Amino acid sequence: MLDASSAGEEWFAIARIVIAGAGVVGLGTALLLSRDGHEVTVLERDAEAPPAGTQEIWDSWQRRGVNQFRLPHFFLARYRNVLGTELPDVAEALRASGAIRLNTVLDAPETVRGAVRDEDGAFECLSGRRCVVEAAVASVAERADRLEIRRGASVAGLVAGPAARDGVPHVAGVRLTTGEEIAADLVVDMTGRRSPLPRWLEAIGAQAPRDELDDCGFIYYGRHFRSASGDIPPAIGGFLQHLGTISSLTLPADNGTWSVTLVTSAKDKALRVLHDAAIWERTVRSLPLVAHWLDGEPIDDRVMAIAGIEDRHRNLMVDGAPVATGVVAAGDAWACSNPSVGRGASIGMLQATVLRDTVAATGLEDPWEFACSFHDATAESVEPWYRDTLTADRHRLAEIDALIQGAEYRPVDPGWEVSQALASSALKDPDCFRGFISVVMVLSREADVLSRPGMLDKVTALGSGWRDEPIPAPTRGELLSTVADG
Ligand SMILES: Cc1cc2nc3c(=O)[nH]c(=O)nc-3n(C[C@H](O)[C@H](O)[C@H](O)COP(=O)(O)OP(=O)(O)OC[C@H]3O[C@@H](n4cnc5c(N)ncnc54)[C@H](O)[C@@H]3O)c2cc1C
Repeated sequence: MLDASSAGEEWFAIARIVIAGAGVVGLGTALLLSRDGHEVTVLERDAEAPPAGTQEIWDSWQRRGVNQFRLPHFFLARYRNVLGTELPDVAEALRASGAIRLNTVLDAPETVRGAVRDEDGAFECLSGRRCVVEAAVASVAERADRLEIRRGASVAGLVAGPAARDGVPHVAGVRLTTGEEIAADLVVDMTGRRSPLPRWLEAIGAQAPRDELDDCGFIYYGRHFRSASGDIPPAIGGFLQHLGTISSLTLPADNGTWSVTLVTSAKDKALRVLHDAAIWERTVRSLPLVAHWLDGEPIDDRVMAIAGIEDRHRNLMVDGAPVATGVVAAGDAWACSNPSVGRGASIGMLQATVLRDTVAATGLEDPWEFACSFHDATAESVEPWYRDTLTADRHRLAEIDALIQGAEYRPVDPGWEVSQALASSALKDPDCFRGFISVVMVLSREADVLSRPGMLDKVTALGSGWRDEPIPAPTRGELLSTVADG
């Protein structure tokens, strides 16, 4: 521990915290911890800092460490809420860089949302292209006190110190590829989806963490656009629409830009040609509620496709004991899942607040106690969001499989039926609408929405006929012929 410092009457310990990875959540986490009084060093393998100006950021910022850097992103209301409460200057920087501000409830027609309610401000989103949002967060982090960002500093491994408990390695810092060692009271692995933490732990003699790993099973084919007028096409239907065997994502972004993405099952070989720009465009044009999102100028040179994305959850507690002390994983390095629901940054920043609060409440003087407390707090308030996402994804993939076979998807899972009913009821009742949007925006879990007084009855009454509703999209046969020859 560096020192003890006083904040009014209270005394707290200042810790030296190293964060490996300056991604969009890593930087947000660094800001939260440094503003709580800790000395934070962020080590980032990619050497380039964000250039000035959104055009330059889009055109030239090289971020090889983040595969999805130029792929469509949307930052949900939970992300904006965390910024509003915890990091208002980041929210301000986002607005200044041209981030779009929208409220998915207030912007809906009154016939759908009913009268405006006091709590509707919670649905506000502040979003933009991934690179623009990350640059805005970085601009605040680079000026912050007690926060140093070292770009071009690649972490090669962990440095072990005296164990806090017999038989369990304790991490006392990191080693860079240059051989330099940096001491820390806590190392936070925020190196993203491809985090090498298990290898680093093995090298200091730690037991392997428990990883759950699965291919998320979707392929994404996306492009960004800009309009000459600066206007963004109107959303008809949700940002994410399940349209038979494909889904569409239409995401408003900063400075008059937006993205359009088609999401397919990785098993759907017939649709793998969607990386071809002409076939992709023809397919988007065939979707009545989506086609108008093509009315702009593409600002990337091709359809960007990404596959092989993993669902992964990493547990550093094995058989009730931490595999090591002095190190934790957060953000995508802790857990990552299907990105089409756009939850990564929201869940990541939720976990960042949990990390900051656990450091404040438990301290780092007893590394074992800290490791256990952070694990418990994450398991209680962050992990359920990950699990919910996984459940919904598994159903969606199985549904696509069934539809490809020409069958109806009828799982024996009342939870899934009620989920579909909630979505269907959303346009028919203002309470159901807000409940549904709360889940989409990572504000409330579905189970909590459904336990509101009278909600389940209303959802059942209004939404249980969802199977009879027409899907505003071509049939599978029409889709295949559009893809094959137009
Ligand atoms: C296709 C796709 C679309 C997505 N869309 C959305 C969306 O719409 N909304 C949303 O909220 N989320 C979305 N996500 C998820 C979101 O991108 C992640 O949740 C987010 O990037 C996690 O931030 P992070 O800081 O944890 O990790 P990352 O942003 O991945 O950053 C990790 C950093 O660690 C660095 N690094 C790696 N190894 C080392 C090392 N050895 N030493 C030092 N640095 C290292 C990397 O260079 C990188 O900068 C999407 C993901 C994908 C794949």
